[in-house]
Amino acid sequence: MAYTLGNAVIYTGSELLDKGYVTIDDRKIVEVGKMESLRDHMDRDLHDMLVMPAWVNAHTHIYSTLARGMNVEFHPLSFTQILRQLWWRLDRALGPEEIEIGAMVAASEFIHNGIATVFDHHASPNFVKGSLEILKRTIVDTAGMRGVFCYETSDRNGKQRESIEENVNFYEVHKGESKTSGMMGLHASFTLSDETLDAVSKACDGKIPIHVHVAEGVEDELDSINSYDTKIINRFERHGILIPNSIYAHCIHVDEDEVNAISKSGGFIAINIQSNMNNSVGIPNLAKFRKNRTKVVLGNDGFGFSPSFDLRLVLLSQRHLSESPTGFSTPDLKEIIENTHELASRHLNERFGKIERGYAADIVVVDYSPPTPMTFDNFYDHLFFGITESTIDSLYVAGEPVMINGKIKTFDEKEIKGEARKVAMKLWERV
Ligand SMILES: [Zn+2]
Repeated sequence: MAYTLGNAVIYTGSELLDKGYVTIDDRKIVEVGKMESLRDHMDRDLHDMLVMPAWVNAHTHIYSTLARGMNVEFHPLSFTQILRQLWWRLDRALGPEEIEIGAMVAASEFIHNGIATVFDHHASPNFVKGSLEILKRTIVDTAGMRGVFCYETSDRNGKQRESIEENVNFYEVHKGESKTSGMMGLHASFTLSDETLDAVSKACDGKIPIHVHVAEGVEDELDSINSYDTKIINRFERHGILIPNSIYAHCIHVDEDEVNAISKSGGFIAINIQSNMNNSVGIPNLAKFRKNRTKVVLGNDGFGFSPSFDLRLVLLSQRHLSESPTGFSTPDLKEIIENTHELASRHLNERFGKIERGYAADIVVVDYSPPTPMTFDNFYDHLFFGITESTIDSLYVAGEPVMINGKIKTFDEKEIKGEARKVAMKLWERV
């Protein structure tokens, strides 16, 4: 049944309405306008709160959720050692129970931060088959979000065939859906042999987009040069897996030719600067991507759930890198946000990123009262300097109220977190 949210400040993506309404029916936005032209009644008075398109996270690792506070022996000297000493020990210990409860906790964090859609990159080498359906069941069916899932194929555990099959099966089952989709997940060039990449290429058949880490640590690029006599992206190109709408996460140590090849193939680079700084691997230079007209999208790499925080770090880090106060500006942030919505539109059978008729009803309500005039032209300045620090009040996904007045409606988050602490304690003993 159609319903109307009224008395809101609405950033539609094309204009800013001072006192507006939005009507939602059957997963989509059917009408947007000024309050004076509202013919019917409104169902919810938003009291001048801000309505804008919900966020999309283009690269995350839900499986890492239960690692918060975990204590393992940890003295890494390189990025690969961080993986060996922490993440590869954790993912080997994951079974269905940990995946499910971790996903519920992640969902509660995503929802509180206004995220409607996630592109997840999953790993649980001792429970591969069926792992993506568990994620779908929790994130999409229970929590009410949208998800694009993939399994991390890698030679490090000898489960290459099983991993490729998990990706292909999930992709085929959910092809064409609007809340769920699949990709071909790959860890990174340095843990993938030529034989595995050939099998991946055959399975993808130029149709299933890949989701892969690229040159996160410098050792990934060096391994490709030393072992295969070519750079990572050229290696992937040789194997025919630069498939349109693929996601290349990080790309910190790639060169201009590689960036150009990603651009030409219709791929997206997912940046995760918080995670990069935490891992001491360097940060991507967005000027290099811009020069090659590459579409940059925003991820979190499983670290920190607030896109607001990530966006702030993107701008600050790039100004710092460029050594110029105009080296990166708020319109550049707008481009990244719009690219991230475009990525979601390419993978899910809906249009995202605007509060306009025909677009998906993925809406975030922010409790933001601007202390200075806010217009369409200065909206991204308000976003950067103020909206990012404001409380998310509500989230609607596909027209369904997932969170209202800060309270999640789709599941009992307190109960989930209590359960998660128990599961995490048992998990940590096994890691
Ligand atoms: Zn990652």
